[in-house]
Amino acid sequence: MTDYAWHVHHDKLWEALDDTYQARCKYIERHKPRAEVALRLQLFKISRRLKLLVDDYYAKLKPVDDDYYAKRKLLVDDYYAKRKLLVDDYNAKRKLLDDDYNAKRKLLDDDYNAKRKLLDDDYNAKRKRVEAPIIRLHRRECPDCPWNGKTIFARRT
Ligand SMILES: [Zn+2]
Repeated sequence: MTDYAWHVHHDKLWEALDDTYQARCKYIERHKPRAEVALRLQLFKISRRLKLLVDDYYAKLKPVDDDYYAKRKLLVDDYYAKRKLLVDDYNAKRKLLDDDYNAKRKLLDDDYNAKRKLLDDDYNAKRKRVEAPIIRLHRRECPDCPWNGKTIFARRT
């Protein structure tokens, strides 16, 4: 038969004792901080009267628990149903916002990239003309050069 005791653990007033009284005392002495052992052992007591009250306690608590958990379930279900509506609304609005942004951003980027390419192509053509004398000099001073315009290691690959 299960025994009930006061202060089996420091954070509970009473509870069922899983182990024997002696085993719990031994555990406290071996594993709890030195400064706590005396108080823990002083307060830890098996109570026959507590045991008599426990059955009545659980019997009376049952309808209170049942009522609480039923009401809690209604509250939780209502909360998550309302939250889902909120989340769905948010996601729908956000998708519209994202789609609008992405469409406008694509137009802007396409226009920028097209104009940038024209500008860069024109610049590179002009730069090539300006650099032409240097390229010709390099051909004379560095014959059989692997330089391909970007790297001297072009032939290694
Ligand atoms: Zn070279």
